[in-house]
Amino acid sequence: MSKIWDAIIIGGGAAGLFCAGVAGQLGKKVLVLDHSEVLGEKIRISGGGRCNFTNLHSNPSNFLSLNPHFVKSALARYPSKEFIKLIQSYRIGYHEKHQGQLFCDDSAKQIIDLLFAECANGGVTIRYPVKIQSISGKAGEWLIGTDGGQERAKSVVMATGGLPVPAIGATAYSLDIAKQFGLKVIDPRPALVPLSFTSGEFENLNALAGLSLPVKIASGSKGSRYGACTFNEDLLLTHKGLSGPAVLQASSYWIEGEPIHINWIGSAASGSSIDCGELFASEDSRLKLTENLLASFMPLRLAKAFAEQKNLLGRKWAEVSKKDRQALQELITHWSVKPAGTLGWKKAEVMLGGVDTKELDGQTMMARSYPGLYFIGECVDVTGHLGGHNFQWAWASGFACAHSL
Ligand SMILES: Cc1cc2nc3c(=O)[nH]c(=O)nc-3n(C[C@H](O)[C@H](O)[C@H](O)COP(=O)(O)OP(=O)(O)OC[C@H]3O[C@@H](n4cnc5c(N)ncnc54)[C@H](O)[C@@H]3O)c2cc1C
Repeated sequence: MSKIWDAIIIGGGAAGLFCAGVAGQLGKKVLVLDHSEVLGEKIRISGGGRCNFTNLHSNPSNFLSLNPHFVKSALARYPSKEFIKLIQSYRIGYHEKHQGQLFCDDSAKQIIDLLFAECANGGVTIRYPVKIQSISGKAGEWLIGTDGGQERAKSVVMATGGLPVPAIGATAYSLDIAKQFGLKVIDPRPALVPLSFTSGEFENLNALAGLSLPVKIASGSKGSRYGACTFNEDLLLTHKGLSGPAVLQASSYWIEGEPIHINWIGSAASGSSIDCGELFASEDSRLKLTENLLASFMPLRLAKAFAEQKNLLGRKWAEVSKKDRQALQELITHWSVKPAGTLGWKKAEVMLGGVDTKELDGQTMMARSYPGLYFIGECVDVTGHLGGHNFQWAWASGFACAHSL
């Protein structure tokens, strides 16, 4: 009879390695299996190479899930301050960039090294590349068939992540295993992803590719699967459509066929003292050309594009009719556009959907109907906002699971 592991974790990414380290240090005999040649690739490319490893303000409202309450227990048990303590104990330098987002000073590789060190401290065995061929079993004894032979375990933890970036080994394996056991899976969809547009809708704006500015963006609708949300963030115009943090955030709430709404006066929109209504009405403004007046709020190239769209380019503000002024103001503060689609899994940072949280116990991540079968990290129907929340979910769900193995 081969050795029986306390737990076999399938997937050695953020959630899998973290869970393995914690469980190992709690005295469990843990084996991690991964099909990739290199582990931690998503961590390595995250946060522009510096890994936005958590967020100071991470809380349940930063997550999309059919059941928004599901994350509460795990996040409360392992909040971002706990991961920060771990980072500090490894003397990894970090800084806050924007709205509580914490990044490594040096490199994302430090997070990968930390996870491997934690696994080593827990005596975890890690094998890769290994092809997983089958998973079967029941409470107390699970059988994992691999190209290197069969392994036995008391518990099996699915941690193969989401579908983004297939080029670095992303698969739907955890979702396939959930379905194999009859668990419901919420259809996966790319999220935190740039949006594309048909050329008709976007004609004079894609000539401005490369331009970035703060905007207020709104997407989704109250009655829809994940509701609606508004963000004050930077938007980037690209050759293919719209990107930048504002659009990535909005993409998670976007409903196919529906418009997104942009107020291009980001600084005014985010509550600064600039009031566009007042400025448009001021005596000084009367002598300005329309595009120069708009340029008080946005880059001149964009201001010209908007003025052109309303046939007001080169016209003094004083000469513009009240009706045309209102139409222009409406255009820049309530710009609605219907995206044609997203740039798909290649460009997405995370997956919406996954194993339905109704199937799992929120305190342990265990399948309610299959004792000993767990799902953690991105494969669960829990998707974080941009800004370190997705890693925070990987740590928190991994921690909850590790304590239950
Ligand atoms: C470009 C990019 C940048 C990102 N930046 C950030 C950021 O800065 N902050 C943040 O919070 N989040 C970020 N994310 C999201 C974050 O990387 C993920 O949410 C997180 O890695 C999910 O952890 P996980 O362990 O569930 O999955 P992963 O970390 O993806 O790990 C899954 C593991 O499973 C393995 N695997 C897959 N299929 C199989 C199979 N069939 N058999 C065996 N093994 C398998 C993979 O090889 C991988 O090692 C980013 C994502 C991308 C794509």
